[in-house]
Amino acid sequence: MSRLAAETGSINLGQGFPEGMEPAALIDAAVKALQDGPHQYPPMMGLPALRQAVAENTKRFLEIDVDWEREVLVTSGATEALADTFLALLETGDEVIVFEPVYDVYALLIRRAGAIPVPVRLAPPHWELPREQLAALITPKTRAIVINTPMNPIGKIFDDEELAFLSALVLKHDLLVIADEVYEHLTFDGRAHKTLFALPELRDRVVRIGSAGKTFSVTGWKVGYVTADAKLLAPIARAHQFVTFTTPPALQAAVAVGLRLPDTYFQSLKTDLELRRNVLVDGLRAAGFTVADAASTYFAIADISSFDADGDDLAFSRRLTLEAGVTPVPISSFYGARDVTSHVRFCFAKKIETLEEAVKRLSRWR
Ligand code: PMP
Ligand code: GLN
Repeated sequence: MSRLAAETGSINLGQGFPEGMEPAALIDAAVKALQDGPHQYPPMMGLPALRQAVAENTKRFLEIDVDWEREVLVTSGATEALADTFLALLETGDEVIVFEPVYDVYALLIRRAGAIPVPVRLAPPHWELPREQLAALITPKTRAIVINTPMNPIGKIFDDEELAFLSALVLKHDLLVIADEVYEHLTFDGRAHKTLFALPELRDRVVRIGSAGKTFSVTGWKVGYVTADAKLLAPIARAHQFVTFTTPPALQAAVAVGLRLPDTYFQSLKTDLELRRNVLVDGLRAAGFTVADAASTYFAIADISSFDADGDDLAFSRRLTLEAGVTPVPISSFYGARDVTSHVRFCFAKKIETLEEAVKRLSRWR
């Protein structure tokens, strides 16, 4: 969709990346670190300053104690963290529960690690956890559950009850949890991010993954971090040693500064995104789309049933690109079976003027 948008001069609200939101303090810190060096291999686990900052940030926002020396690993993006984790913890034939619509990376990496992704579908419009169906899919081969909260592409935040249900299942069947929480700081309207990592009974079973890309609106930087009990983290660090070994030191130093920014930064990240979300969601609704509340992440989900789309969200996304000059992504691309769906995803983490132009184009098209 990004390629089609570029070729046709369409506004790309498909791919999830922010526009014009990088905090100046982070960029200044990166420039300084690049000027001052060092430029050689940093420690394999990550710069101590960044690992300490990850632990501090976890304590500040989630009230969880983390031992920065033994429980934090820096990776080249959350994507590398996911790859390292699957390579380290999965054996051939293991089954891994993933929730659909699912971030596309998981199933492919799980398969490459020799394991089998087992999809559990959440259904629109409320995308609730289908508890009985999930419980019925656990077998003696199930090794782990991957949970992405706040969730790409649907902006779902798993609530306390759902987390309690998952926690009971994990303990009953002796499972691990891989918690992709890259959108942890992007929750709106006073909603809070909740994590299974906070439950003491799961403390040694959860691998928690974060990304500077989302927290500081620098998706091209690829600085990620993994937090887990030392025993669980050790094999992940061994995988990291042979996948990338390390991550550019200047970027690590800058992200350490970012994670230590005052609460006002993290608050303004939310309010800034809320404002952008409101412009897009109001505009989409005015243009005739049915749009669910967008509670987190960068994304709003629109139901396209009223547009004669025949349930074909890919064809609709192409049509909107060519006819309106606004590009979403089809939600069907987040399902293993590639079924068509009646939903598309729009990214609202763009400049207000970009969003206003998109809304203008959509209302004209309509
Ligand atoms: N997980 C999810 C759910 C994401 O949306 C993204 C962003 N593309 C990532 C992981 C990857 O993060 P990173 O760019 O740090 O590799
Ligand atoms: N995570 C981003 C999204 O969901 C995209 C990352 C990518 O383009 N590979 O849009």
